[in-house]
Amino acid sequence: MGKCKRCGLKTVLSKSDIDKMVSEVTSMKGVRLADENLFLKRFDVCSLCDKLMYGSTCAVCGCVMQVRARLSDGRCPEKKW
Ligand code: SF4
Repeated sequence: MGKCKRCGLKTVLSKSDIDKMVSEVTSMKGVRLADENLFLKRFDVCSLCDKLMYGSTCAVCGCVMQVRARLSDGRCPEKKW
């Protein structure tokens, strides 16, 4: 499987890869999270966005949206949310 040239991660993530990343980030000390409704609203926007690749990765910022959309200070680089 191909890897991202920038960060070395796999380009196509499985659900378990994504779940692991979410778990790692959300359990970090000091990380402020958006509430579940806000996360779901943000992720709905991403899901319809033509910049979302492989169902997980924003082609503009390179972030995994299942993670970024959970962060209280997460932002869409295209200002869609
Ligand atoms: S963060 Fe913004 S640009 Fe990136 S996939 Fe989501 S809606 Fe699209």
